[in-house]
Amino acid sequence: MSEETQTSLCDQWLANLAASGYRVTAPRRAIVELMASSTHALEPLAIYDQGRKDYPGLGLVTVYRTLEKLEELGLVQRVHHHQGCHMYLRAAHGHEHLVLCTRCGHAEYFSGDDIGGLINKVTQSTGFEIREHWLQLFGLCPACKNQ
Ligand SMILES: [Zn+2]
Ligand SMILES: [Zn+2]
Repeated sequence: MSEETQTSLCDQWLANLAASGYRVTAPRRAIVELMASSTHALEPLAIYDQGRKDYPGLGLVTVYRTLEKLEELGLVQRVHHHQGCHMYLRAAHGHEHLVLCTRCGHAEYFSGDDIGGLINKVTQSTGFEIREHWLQLFGLCPACKNQ
């Protein structure tokens, strides 16, 4: 993602928050900036640690509440991980799926999954009418793979 895209995504989120009547204070803004630009799925504690580098007064409760609000607005989403769904990442744009590094949390969305054939097969073998799917891939990112 280019720097320009990150900036505009952050501005978009801030506008979104303001439009929903949310007061964007400096600590909340720090979390928005972090989440809009992060290439990694992050746990609230990691967001707290990173955010405190810019805003030492940042509180953990603010982290949780801001994440909750961002999730409510569909701007961030929880990411499924082996330990549960405690990590957060910017939400997908439209129909995208996630590939997640199990070592460092580096995450990327991809589109163009072609599972029509599989869905037809499952429909035939189970008799279900398939309406949705959820797909997430796990592995090692290029940096972790080469360690
Ligand atoms: Zn990695
Ligand atoms: Zn899909």
